[in-house]
Amino acid sequence: MKKISLVVPCYNEEESIPLFFQTVSKVIDTMNTPTPTVVPEYVFVDDGSSDNTLTEMKQLNHDHPDTVHFRSFSRNFGKESALAAGLQAATGDYVAVMDVDLQDPPELLPKMFALIENDGYDCVGTIQKERRGQSKLRAFLSASFYNVINHISEVRIEPNARDYRLMTRQFVDTVLSLPEFNRFSKGIFSWVGFKTTYLTYESQPRAAGTTHWNLRQLFAYSIEGIIDFSNAPLRLATWVGSISFILSIIGLIFVIVRALTVGGAVAGWPSLVVIMLLIGGIQLFCLGILGQYINKIYLETKHRPKYIIREEK
Ligand code: UDP
Ligand code: MG
Repeated sequence: MKKISLVVPCYNEEESIPLFFQTVSKVIDTMNTPTPTVVPEYVFVDDGSSDNTLTEMKQLNHDHPDTVHFRSFSRNFGKESALAAGLQAATGDYVAVMDVDLQDPPELLPKMFALIENDGYDCVGTIQKERRGQSKLRAFLSASFYNVINHISEVRIEPNARDYRLMTRQFVDTVLSLPEFNRFSKGIFSWVGFKTTYLTYESQPRAAGTTHWNLRQLFAYSIEGIIDFSNAPLRLATWVGSISFILSIIGLIFVIVRALTVGGAVAGWPSLVVIMLLIGGIQLFCLGILGQYINKIYLETKHRPKYIIREEK
């Protein structure tokens, strides 16, 4: 018998939790017929919800004290922290990370399990086919993000990969051994290496509730990912600086030669102002990039905990 831990981050998901538990339990039952093969362990993480999410978790824990556990944060720390807290608490031989809204189809679990058990993979991830009802703009932005990050970062991030994945104990322990405060899981999962394969599935509508992401947050999240896993933006400053230096040398030679041949001209100050503004702008932009990295260093050096547990069982 293998123990499978299901790590489930939840933020204001009171309606989804019982549904999730029922649906996943059925899938686990199918895995255990005719021969018992897996024992489930549910690790729900309440990411500082303001609705009855915690009450729902407590109810499930009360009904199934051996299989259902929960950890509740003192406030909303974000999904990345919830994932870290869940992985930390999971004790299974295999650990799955799943959203509670059933957008990550539990029916894939038996297949993922088989791939690890029989084909020697350490991790089975999932890729969602293009989201139905997703706007053209969003699809374009998302494709651009993966293009950029895969060009400039040291890790390959599978386009449209979900966080939904099944991992071996060794894989999870390795992920947990990375102590960083800024956790961009998509990057961390691929940075650690190991043998990973992906399953593709059609996107699913949410079982209940609403998404917690808007375009602005997704954009900020993308920038985080790029800064956490690439130093290309830092190199950009050097490149832009070098190019403008070379251009200015060429310009200088041009001005000297012109002064010696046709004589100096006073005209042209508006273009001068524009050029000064341009250079100033580039300098501030580069300073901004530098600031982003310094901010990351600042956050890391504070050594604050990734989350604070208020209650757990
Ligand atoms: N979530 C979380 N903390 C947050 C935001 C979301 O734990 O601050 C959880 C949420 O409850 C869900 C999962 O992360 O289980 C994915 O969130 P959502 O469904 O809103 O994202 P989407 O599927 O739209 O990408
Ligand atoms: Mg969702």
